[in-house]
Parts: sequence; structure tokens; C-alpha cells
Amino acid sequence: MDLFEHEARELFEARGVPVPRGRVAASPEEARAAAVEIGGTVVVKAQVKTGGRGKAGGVKLAARPDDAEQVAEDILGMDIKGHTVHQVLVTEASEIAEEYYASFLLDRANRTFLAMASVEGGMEIEEVAATKPDALAKVPIDALTGVDAEKAREIVAAARFPAEVADGVAEALIRLWEVFVAEDATLVEVNPLVRTKSGEIVALDGKVTLDENAAFRHPGHAAFTDPAAGDPLERQAHEQGLNYVKLDGDIGVIGNGAGLVMSTLDVVADAAAEAGAVGPANFLDIGGGASAEIMSAGLGVILGDPGVRSVFVNVFGGITACDAVADGIVKALALLGDRATKPLVVRLDGNNVAEGRRILAEAAHPLVTVVATMDDAARTAAELAAVVTPEA
Ligand code: GDP
Ligand code: MN
Repeated sequence: MDLFEHEARELFEARGVPVPRGRVAASPEEARAAAVEIGGTVVVKAQVKTGGRGKAGGVKLAARPDDAEQVAEDILGMDIKGHTVHQVLVTEASEIAEEYYASFLLDRANRTFLAMASVEGGMEIEEVAATKPDALAKVPIDALTGVDAEKAREIVAAARFPAEVADGVAEALIRLWEVFVAEDATLVEVNPLVRTKSGEIVALDGKVTLDENAAFRHPGHAAFTDPAAGDPLERQAHEQGLNYVKLDGDIGVIGNGAGLVMSTLDVVADAAAEAGAVGPANFLDIGGGASAEIMSAGLGVILGDPGVRSVFVNVFGGITACDAVADGIVKALALLGDRATKPLVVRLDGNNVAEGRRILAEAAHPLVTVVATMDDAARTAAELAAVVTPEA
């Protein structure tokens, strides 16, 4: 989960990373009040979960409260790369002498954590990395020893920070690493980290990505969830405890077990290419249990996706035998009633398969086609998706 800048800033502040004073405002009047409270020149910053706000006109200086109100009026409601601005952060303006870059992230490819730092911050770091790779220092961080004073000095030296800011930057790095660890983040990025004209080191912008798998040990993070963000179907699925990821295709996929569902996606993608369908519409793993409730919750989510033209239910009976799964499918269709509107291709195999197929044959639901193998079932689902005429 990506955080808004003002949320990242809150986490920084709580661990002693220097940040400018600031307040969130949702209206021009609130921005004005914030500017009065902060005093002096302020910066009004669009709160959207995307970078490049400055370039897009979403970061503006305001010398007086009246200006802050006017600037907030301009920024609120703005569209920045498809994100509508609903709030602004009003901060005291810093007098910038130099702009640096610092981040910690999970380096999956190298199975480690990584610090990145540069004295050429401010602009987009991808550009620095592409045009002047030498200007971006990359220092692996050991998960056990983390960033202590020595490691912080190593990062500072690798990025060739000037001597007069070495201590201040090192201190900020140690605290940012504390944020990274304590909050279970996968990314903590500051761009720009600035040296002000009075010589202070201040985090002027912050980007934090939290590891949602660690949410259970951070009850406080619930406050960061953004009800407007994310796909509504994914939200509905997660509320029902389903392992669902929305994709862009036209063939709904349900399976039991992540591995089976992953390989089903591959088979469906191939079959779709051949049949002239688009591809898998989602990943949905209903796990070990295939009760009528779970099956109908899963089918309900998939059928709620307007892009879906057919559904492939691919189940391998293990601990949950095929007859129980077949029973779940039949009951789920009964529960869904009129909401079940798209053809279902079911491939059942494994434990008690004969009984499972018998149950489906006996129910003879008009939407259900039972196909014996995974490849054939994927082909059938793809053909069904390709022939159904899209709704206007
Ligand atoms: P981003 O464009 O989304 O990364 O937004 P930032 O928060 O990084 O702001 C973009 C740029 O605005 C920064 O690189 C600074 O140059 C400028 N900026 C932000 N805050 C201040 C400030 O307090 N004073 C001054 N003078 N410039 C600022
Ligand atoms: Mn920035």
C-alpha cells in the first residue's frame, strides 16, 4: 500500500526525521487557515499517490494566506496523471540550498535491502539513474545489522555527500531506516532531501510503501487505507476473504490453490490467443475449502466483472474431494440465481472425481459445461468468451 505524502511525513516525524511543519487541508479555506497558523511563506502540495506533482503544477509557493487560499483552489480538483486531488498539504516553505535523494527499498532481485542515495535529487531519480548512473549510489543493507552509524557513513561516502552535511544526512538515514523497519515498509523514499540555506537537513517530500502482509501487526496502519483507492471488485473480494486479483481479460478463472490458478492463467492465456478471446479476467484462489458459500462468493465477484464473458472453474480435489466441490458449485449457482448469467466451464479432477462429475451431470445446469482436461476446458472457455457478443 502506497501512502500519501502527508502520511509518510507523519511516520517520518514520529521517528525524528526532520520535516517542515505542515497541515492537511481539503478546501481553500482550510488551506488559508493552515497558512495563517504556519505563518510566513508556505508550500501548497497536491496529495496524490503519484510522483511528478511539481512538474504538473501541483506544488506551489504562497507568500500570504490569501495566496495559499487561491493556490489551493487551483490545485484541489486537479487531475494529476489520472489522480484527482482531494487534499493538499500546506507546509512551511524551506529555503533550499541543495536537493538530494535518499531511499531504502526491498531489492527482490538480489534478495536484500538496498539504500540508494544521490546528491542530485529533486528531479526524477529514474532520469539520474539512466543518464548518470555514477551519481546514484547503491549500497546493500544487511537485514540483521541494518543501518547503524557505520552503514550510514558508508552510504554518505558512496554518494559523495559534501563533508558539511555528512553528519546530518547520516542521522536522517538512520532514522529513515528506523521508519522502514518499524513500519514494515518495502519503500521509504525522500526526494528531495534538502540542505536549507541555514544548513539543516530536511525531508521535503516522502514516499512510503507499506507491506500489506504485515498489516496484522500494525493496527495503526488501518487509518491509511484509502477507501477510494483500488479496484472495487478487489475490495469486495478481500472483504469476503478471497484471494483475488483483477486482470484485464474476458475469461474469469477460479481454482483451488495458488499454483493451480497460476498455471490456469497461463493455459487460459494461450487458449484465448488461439480462440480470439482476450485472456484471463482475474486470479482467484478459493483455497482448500470449496464450500457453497466460498464458491458463490467467488462466482459473485467474477460475475460482477462486466468484462467477463465466460468462467473457467478449475478444481483439483485433494483434501476437499470433488463431490464436495461439485456440490458447492451447484449450491452456489442456486444461491446466485439470476445473477449467474455467464457460461461456466468446469474441470474437476482428483479425489472422488467420478462422484463430482455425476453430481454436476445430474444437476444439468444450463450454464455449466463439464470438460475432462484442463487444456480442453481452457479452450472451451476461450471459445465461449470469443463468441459471446459484447454488451453495447
Ligand atoms: P514531486 O514533484 O511530486 O516529487 O513533489 P515534491 O514534494 O518533491 O516537490 C517538487 C519540487 O518542489 C521540489 O523538488 C522542490 O524543488 C520544490 N519544493 C517543494 N517544497 C519546497 C519548499 O519548501 N521550498 C522551495 N523553495 N521549493 C520547494
Ligand atoms: Mn518529490
